[in-house]
Amino acid sequence: MDKRCDLLIRGGRVFDGSGRPGMVMDLAVKDGCIAAAGAVGDWAAADTVDAAGLAVAPGFIDTHTHDDMALLRQPAHPSKVTQGVTTVVIGNCGASPAPLGPRDDLVEPPFTFLGESEGRRFKTYADYADALEAAGPDVHVVKLVGHSNLRAAAMKEPHGQPTEDEMAAMKAHLEEAMAAGCVGFSVGLAYPTGKPAPTAELIELAAVAAARGGLYATHMRDEADHVVRSVEESLEIGAKAGVPVLISHHKCCGPDNWGRSVDTLARVDAAAEAGQRVFMDAYPYTASSTGLMPEMAARAERVLVTESVPHPDLANRDLAEIMAEWDCDMETAVGRLSPAKAVYFQMSDDDLERILAHPLCMVGSDGMPSDAHPHPRLWGTFPRVLGHYARDRKLFDLAQAIRKLTQLPAQCFGLTDRGAIAPGKIADLVIFDADEVIDRATYEMPERVSEGIRMVITGGEARYESR
Ligand SMILES: [Zn+2]
Repeated sequence: MDKRCDLLIRGGRVFDGSGRPGMVMDLAVKDGCIAAAGAVGDWAAADTVDAAGLAVAPGFIDTHTHDDMALLRQPAHPSKVTQGVTTVVIGNCGASPAPLGPRDDLVEPPFTFLGESEGRRFKTYADYADALEAAGPDVHVVKLVGHSNLRAAAMKEPHGQPTEDEMAAMKAHLEEAMAAGCVGFSVGLAYPTGKPAPTAELIELAAVAAARGGLYATHMRDEADHVVRSVEESLEIGAKAGVPVLISHHKCCGPDNWGRSVDTLARVDAAAEAGQRVFMDAYPYTASSTGLMPEMAARAERVLVTESVPHPDLANRDLAEIMAEWDCDMETAVGRLSPAKAVYFQMSDDDLERILAHPLCMVGSDGMPSDAHPHPRLWGTFPRVLGHYARDRKLFDLAQAIRKLTQLPAQCFGLTDRGAIAPGKIADLVIFDADEVIDRATYEMPERVSEGIRMVITGGEARYESR
């Protein structure tokens, strides 16, 4: 056997992603893959990394992003790579860069998540996939196509009900996107183009995805008063269409609904026990972020306006302050600020921790890379799970935390060559200091780089190093 390789990583505590405790061992990386794990003392390498005292894990998988267009603008993707992320899932909450065509009448969430106007350049998903390949980002990309895009591309009036022909056109667009590499489709049922879709429409589309081995990722209709009913609808769609369900950024919004995660997780457990494939993701913060909308602002304890198209100078200001200055009510202020984005402080620590600790819950940042003043989850999510929730709060041990960031999402999205450390797997690796790793991004200073992530390797190549 040829024992030369490109890179040797010596003496790290290696977590294989399965949830088993880490073991001190060496890794040999060759041709972008892990060639050997264990004692590799007799191997020769062009490069050697001393990982003594550090943790070595499979590269993290960000299961919920809106990075679709950011990957084209900035392929080095520092907001994620500096956190140890080597794979991102795009196309969430019903919004993707394609299909859409040149229509300018939909300046509203979820389309605005990808950045103004740039989100509407690609007529077919294959066009976008070509552009992404040409950009060559530093992370692997797992693609979903957005249901709101299917509606916008197929329907004359995407805020209404599809005709039979329009329904057929939606299915054809979904087929095209799956053929162009998508692994499923996402919905944003709280948004104007998703809200009108009845459960039956979603079952019909989900069945098309299922026929191609795809999954159904849902930003549910309601994450507040009717969150339990929303989970039931999601599970019903999964069961009737025969499709795996991913409940996106699971949470219970508003003080009246705190504690409902006991019921939502019981529904998920019952479905999983009955054999249904169901997953969730969450981000490790008690504030959410999306378009500025009056019904959400009314429920939040505090609203931070992060971006306003007509009033860019008011980014990073409290809505309450703006209302006081303008001497107007909330509806009026929201109307004047829109289109706008906001951070809503509206979740409880208990629900967040209960959801995050659930064995079927993965981690998705849900960051908005096009925001002028983003939510800190964009730059801080993964070190926060490892440092704050695993090490400091002891919500789960380090090995279980790593499983949530690696093997579990690889299983959810069918990524058989990633999410684990074993010979033959792609060499996506993160080397970090388990005692030091922590997020530094805050609501006030959201673009600060995390600490303790020492080296990030994607496909055998070092993409990031810090000391
Ligand atoms: Zn969403």
